[in-house]
Amino acid sequence: MRDPRYDLLFEPVHIGPVRTRNRFYQVPHCNGMGHVHPSAMARMRGIKAEGSWGVVCTEECEISPLSEFSPYIEARLWDKRDIPALARMCDEVHRHGSLAGVELAFNGYSAPNRYSREIPWAPSNTPVRGYDPIQARAMSRADIKQLREMHRAAALRARQAGFDIIYVYAGHDLGLPFHFLTQRNNRRDDEYGGVLENRVRLLRELIEDTRDAVGDRCAVAVRLAVDEQVAGGLTRDGEGAEIFSMLAQLPDLWDVNVANWSNDSVTSRFASEGYQEAFLLGLKALTTKPIVGVGRYTSPDTMLSLVRRGVLDLIGAARPSIADPFLPKKIEEGRMEEIRECIGCNVCVSGDHTSTPLRCTQNPTMGEEWRRGWHPESVEPVSHPNRALVVGAGPAGLECARILGARGMEVALVEGTRTLGGRVALESRLPGLSSWSRVLDYRLDALSRLSSVEIYRESRLEMQDVLDFAAPHVFIATGSSWRRDGLGRALRQPLPGVQSLQVFTPDDVMAGAVLPSPVLLFDDDHYYMGSVLAERLAAQGVEVIFVTPAPDVATWTHNTLEQHRIQRRLLELNITIIASHSLMNVTPEGVVACCAYTDRPRFIPAASLLLVTSREPEQGLYLSLSESPEQRLSAGIETLTLVGDCLAPGTIAAAVYSGRRMAREFDAPAGSLIMRREIPQLEVL
Ligand code: ADP
Ligand code: SF4
Repeated sequence: MRDPRYDLLFEPVHIGPVRTRNRFYQVPHCNGMGHVHPSAMARMRGIKAEGSWGVVCTEECEISPLSEFSPYIEARLWDKRDIPALARMCDEVHRHGSLAGVELAFNGYSAPNRYSREIPWAPSNTPVRGYDPIQARAMSRADIKQLREMHRAAALRARQAGFDIIYVYAGHDLGLPFHFLTQRNNRRDDEYGGVLENRVRLLRELIEDTRDAVGDRCAVAVRLAVDEQVAGGLTRDGEGAEIFSMLAQLPDLWDVNVANWSNDSVTSRFASEGYQEAFLLGLKALTTKPIVGVGRYTSPDTMLSLVRRGVLDLIGAARPSIADPFLPKKIEEGRMEEIRECIGCNVCVSGDHTSTPLRCTQNPTMGEEWRRGWHPESVEPVSHPNRALVVGAGPAGLECARILGARGMEVALVEGTRTLGGRVALESRLPGLSSWSRVLDYRLDALSRLSSVEIYRESRLEMQDVLDFAAPHVFIATGSSWRRDGLGRALRQPLPGVQSLQVFTPDDVMAGAVLPSPVLLFDDDHYYMGSVLAERLAAQGVEVIFVTPAPDVATWTHNTLEQHRIQRRLLELNITIIASHSLMNVTPEGVVACCAYTDRPRFIPAASLLLVTSREPEQGLYLSLSESPEQRLSAGIETLTLVGDCLAPGTIAAAVYSGRRMAREFDAPAGSLIMRREIPQLEVL
């Protein structure tokens, strides 16, 4: 039963002509499925509704090929043929009693129209965002009229699809109405440019048009970024608040955030829960309409406080709803300790950037709801309950044991060290990564409630121990270790002379090694590890020279919206960055690096070398067992499965996913593991 303290969160809220059953609101978020994988998108949204999110929205929804976002995969309502796919989502959401919202989007110069080859529109002539070598053209009055008509028509299509809430999108410095608001994008001298009243005109008209078209049955929401955190941009205390005040009573709902996306979805490495509150404070006093806002909220008490203090009416969430689609239901049912809290890693965002179905570190079922039939809260029981041994309690082993236990297996989870959690326990002690320990917190709590799982620590297993255990199903989740010879992407052979200098790996640093200064850190991994180790060493007073073959540090983190923050932090710590360089050889005095383009060598004096290149799977135990089939047979071992990093090192998200997948699939009948996909229907010629 729910704690009555949280009743306030379960009050219905009127949003124009519709009413949401509670204050939990899944704001629009990308998912890499959109119009390409519509049934997968629909099921994912439906599961959020099942988990009691009162409102469930789409991602950005293109209204016309005049502004399309390819190769990014978003929703689409170009014409009536797009209605059935979104109607499917509305049906899934309505089936569970929630409201469905759609974020109609026309992105102007932010969308280079790579597919349609239409010339992008903007308030004034300008190069498009990013590096596409094309420009957007200044819109004529006729274009503005056409845009209004297109938006209106799309709103009508959205209503036909079944949506209850229809957005006018002026957020993230993406939507064209936002570009009209800002002086740095709008240099017009007609009635749509110049003074603020004029710059607001288009947004005002779009809200009025939408209300006129669909306002009888649908609520009209506005997503507005009130602060851009950029020189010359909108500020919360300046024009951001003025715009809000001017339009305060016009929409039925305000969805308020900050621009751009990297400021809206900051990772936990750079901002903690509630980081947007300063921008939201005081807005409620300016309107009688409900306000929804975000801040990676996972704590019910913080949510309660936001409503009590009059900051927000509705608790908005994108990432917390991805990590736990059942977050509201768990509060509703008094199961708070079961909430799977978002760790703020933005692996989910990478799905949008790579145009693939989103994935989540905490929730391995995300994106798999339709294609693999996975559910975040339930798993199919095994048909023949039996004993299982899971070796290694990193993220893969923990998830594997949890799912096996939930499926009805009797599980022994055996860990060689005293600490559970493997790499997550170690990495979450690195600068800025403490929230990552939530991956363990959630799983350890879940395991503590599974009487069928026994955990043994400080028991490093050898082959004979596994044979003696005589469990019919053995899962090896023994992880991986960082290589100390430089081999990786850039170097396909060990680094010549590597033993000439003291060499360290991330494992050494995490184990507390002291590195002689200056240290040359070679990052050929390109995710977070190199940069967090550089931060840690700099904090210890060690001089760090950061060498990477990529053009910038931690280059994969462009996909998690962090790269610019990471590079800035390293520069602020006076870390020397030598980009576009690989290593040639090592001498007792330092390292010879070489330009990635010209091969020109360059000597860099260093007292030690920290190699962040690649990892080697720890497969010793697995190999000894797999190479002894007769002993396995006589011990009664029927299946032997590699799980997580010891199968192939990857992200924590991949390890958790692997744990779940192996635990679900080890007993599947051959041919039953079909990954569903949707194939476009050919037009009749
Ligand atoms: P993953 O990301 O795949 O879960 P980790 O490296 O995080 O991998 O975790 C692997 C865990 O396995 C570590 O905690 C390690 O101590 C443990 N381990 C490795 N070999 C053995 C073994 N032979 N017996 C028991 N535990 C082991
Ligand atoms: Fe949160 Fe990371 Fe999952 Fe995204 S991928 S929802 S940031 S835990």
